[in-house]
Amino acid sequence: MSLRAKLLEVVSALLPALRTSSKTRVISGSALVLSLVAFGAAGVAPMAPDAADLPVKTVVEELAIPDLNAQIASLSPVAGQFVAEERIRPGDNLSALLDRLGVNDSQAASFIRSDAGARPLLGLRPGRRVQATIDGDGRLLSATALIGDGRDENRKLVIRRDGKGFVAEQQAAAFDSRVEMRSGEIRSSLFAATDAAQVPDAVAMQLVEIFSSDIDFASDLRKGDRFQVVYETVWQDGEMVRTGRVLAAEFSNAGKTFQAVWFGRPDGEGDGGYYDLQGKALRKAFLKSPLAFSRVTSGFAMRVHPISGQWKQHKGIDFAAPTGTPIRSTGDGVVEFAGNAGGYGNMVVVRHGNLYTTAYAHMSRVAARRGMRVAQGEVIGYVGSTGWSTGPHLHYEFRVNNIALNPNSIVVPHAQSLAGVELQHFRRVAADMGHRFALMSGTSLQLAAR
Ligand SMILES: [Zn+2]
Repeated sequence: MSLRAKLLEVVSALLPALRTSSKTRVISGSALVLSLVAFGAAGVAPMAPDAADLPVKTVVEELAIPDLNAQIASLSPVAGQFVAEERIRPGDNLSALLDRLGVNDSQAASFIRSDAGARPLLGLRPGRRVQATIDGDGRLLSATALIGDGRDENRKLVIRRDGKGFVAEQQAAAFDSRVEMRSGEIRSSLFAATDAAQVPDAVAMQLVEIFSSDIDFASDLRKGDRFQVVYETVWQDGEMVRTGRVLAAEFSNAGKTFQAVWFGRPDGEGDGGYYDLQGKALRKAFLKSPLAFSRVTSGFAMRVHPISGQWKQHKGIDFAAPTGTPIRSTGDGVVEFAGNAGGYGNMVVVRHGNLYTTAYAHMSRVAARRGMRVAQGEVIGYVGSTGWSTGPHLHYEFRVNNIALNPNSIVVPHAQSLAGVELQHFRRVAADMGHRFALMSGTSLQLAAR
């Protein structure tokens, strides 16, 4: 059980007592948790180290607690006032929401229903937070909520008591970014592991992209593979509005560990990229798999399939995948052929300089034209079963001087590595990230040892 879950359990046990000992409001469970963390340190401490059943991800929850402290500190409760917080539920209405917040104030309710400035409170989507300050009689003193689409351009709605009535105003909501760390272990699929570690999908997909030159996430993953990831999140008024970039990541696949640190060029030129801790670029001239990996295809791909990713006598690699799975060009290049090619069915051939070409066969649909320039990772068609094929799969050939070779046996060149001043800059960034990884793995080892 997580620390937070334990706290909630204790709070639920305390709630009836609080309700009877005080004639005032029922404060929401979440607000009480905040108070306990901030003011009830003595009560919290003995509960925490029950490590026997703590999974690795509990570390994450403990790291999150200082944020809650900061939040409650900023609320600075005044005697006779209560702060309550609730989330909008599906099918919610204003009366139900005010009830849960402990607001007993018909004047406030009719103001919110009738005032154009306050009414956006009624349109909040489920999951959004509403905070209310109330006095001992349940009168609303103020209510705040973040309004907007939940991503960019959100504003903070403040409704407050003003003399005999209320006023509603909207303020710009300030952005702030946080750095989050998560770690997990693959047991059934990548997404099952990232879900369990509360890693957002956008971050999981970045992980896949970052290591896609070295790991084919559809066929290389093994039970027991581990990951650690450090990423940015963007917040507004206590709500996470979006995830940002992965700053660093580590992936242990089949006993081999890959590390990645984001490095933006100090001169602001170019987009930056991912490097290992020594400053070597992770991006290579070719991706390990031409198949796009997604939550939808991952369940299929994690099953062991007899022909998945195997080098065949017919000089290609067959990737089993459902019809319609996007096929990506594994490198930058120019489309040399796009169309029907007999036994190959619908096929695309991409030329990468003088030496290399790649071919993608049996497509259900071609999404490239001859002469078109394609970037690494760009979708050029979709998996199908056209030509001499017994079922939906991608036949992929990697040709050097027009001779098909096993790409797994070829040393693929890396993108340019860092050097000089950039490398010195990078070493400082990498040292910090290396330290974070060490902290995370140290913690999980310690927990596992108890
Ligand atoms: Zn084949």
